[in-house]
Amino acid sequence: MGNLHNGQVEVVCGSMFSGKTEELMRRLKRAQYAKQKIQVFKPVIDQRYSTDHVQSHDANRILSTPVTTAIEILEKVEDNTRVVGIDEAQFFDETLVDVAQKLAYRGTRVICAGLDMDFRGQPFGPMPKLLAIAEQVTKLSAVCMVCGEPATRSQRLVGEVEPSGATTEDQVLVGAHDYYEARCRFCHEPNTITSFQTGLFPKSKLIQKTPEKNETA
Ligand code: ADP
Ligand code: MG
Ligand code: ZN
Repeated sequence: MGNLHNGQVEVVCGSMFSGKTEELMRRLKRAQYAKQKIQVFKPVIDQRYSTDHVQSHDANRILSTPVTTAIEILEKVEDNTRVVGIDEAQFFDETLVDVAQKLAYRGTRVICAGLDMDFRGQPFGPMPKLLAIAEQVTKLSAVCMVCGEPATRSQRLVGEVEPSGATTEDQVLVGAHDYYEARCRFCHEPNTITSFQTGLFPKSKLIQKTPEKNETA
């Protein structure tokens, strides 16, 4: 278990494409170099790429355990695990905060990566509380796809009803590249899907999009 005082909560947050998963993987790899046992978890809702890996947009991947609830993380963490990584933390409920606290008090280093805001720019799931109780917080930015300035927000590019059945109003619509782009505060439009309406978003892409194995597993 190591030194009890290594127990802490770290949060890596930011918009989509800001490099949260890359940063999480960087920290986990460094822990592995230090011969510390790591375990990685992510919610099953993120079936974007595969259910047993955490994967960044630049296609780096690391083996992970899919879980449906935060409590499952507690059950699955092994005694000799020193570092726990949790990706897409925004998709868990607030139980995740208690789970992270419990692990940290046991001496485990807990690194949570997740979206701080949803596509409307509102705080996402358990992230605000996680940020509050964390010892260390990193807020990353992407590049705004409209103006090139640092992007802090995720713009949803499609509306109406998707093949998955999700609508414009749903907070969760997984599938990064086709549905979202990174934007700064001033280019972000939380209530409209303007880029789609003005044709900036290639409609053809939407129509031709093969229903990307949403139903894996
Ligand atoms: P996150 O987990 O925060 O969504 P990832 O770690 O999966 O981000 O991916 C970050 C990578 O996404 C960057 O290194 C870059 O290659 C790519 N990328 C795509 N669009 C952008 C953008 N608008 N700004 C910055 N990086 C981008
Ligand atoms: Mg990610
Ligand atoms: Zn901008």
